[in-house]
Amino acid sequence: MLAIILPIIAVLIGLTFAVIFKPAVNNGIKLLLSFSGAFLLSVVIFEFLPEVYSSNNSNIGIFIMLGLLIQIILEFGSKGAEHGHVHHKDEGTFPILLFISLCLHSLIEGFPLAENQDLLYGVIVHKIPIAVILSAFLLNSKMSTIQTSIFLIIFACMTPLGAFLKTQSSLLETYSSEVNALVVGVLLHVSTTILFESSKNHQFNATKLGVILIGIIIAYFL
Ligand SMILES: [Zn+2]
Ligand SMILES: [Zn+2]
Repeated sequence: MLAIILPIIAVLIGLTFAVIFKPAVNNGIKLLLSFSGAFLLSVVIFEFLPEVYSSNNSNIGIFIMLGLLIQIILEFGSKGAEHGHVHHKDEGTFPILLFISLCLHSLIEGFPLAENQDLLYGVIVHKIPIAVILSAFLLNSKMSTIQTSIFLIIFACMTPLGAFLKTQSSLLETYSSEVNALVVGVLLHVSTTILFESSKNHQFNATKLGVILIGIIIAYFL
């Protein structure tokens, strides 16, 4: 049940932030992004990855790499919106490619969440800054309020839909270890890209290092 409600709340929090503060990707968001990347990566490494490898399926590694490839392909469409920046040109039309890529990403990351509470927290924390940045982009674009609303509502429902489908579909359940391995690949790529891009000019930033450390430590003690 939490896997249905929390992702939607995360998007609502992000939207509220964007409306109130109208952040032009300010420092606070960047720190939250760094924290979310470290936290998500740590949950995957500490818990989800060992769990996936304990399934005795000898093809796990292949499916992890497949997930990584899927995420790379999705980023051609999203231009990196799922790791925190929108390069999309605002043409005033509905950004269909961005929309489809983001929705697919959100659907996939939703699959294991009904069975994995800590991963659920990891994905929620990752979703909040993404929702802030995405909402800010959509609100500043020339798109109509109705288009923006449709985009955000469907986007918000995709992760819960993934979690729901996984509990309902016997096909997804049969291939549970393969599906989870795919999600590991997707999340590994997204979280490492967030961390990589958060230190683009490689300048030492004590605050950033601090929030990354806190992210790792919290995930370890979850
Ligand atoms: Zn990027
Ligand atoms: Zn994501």
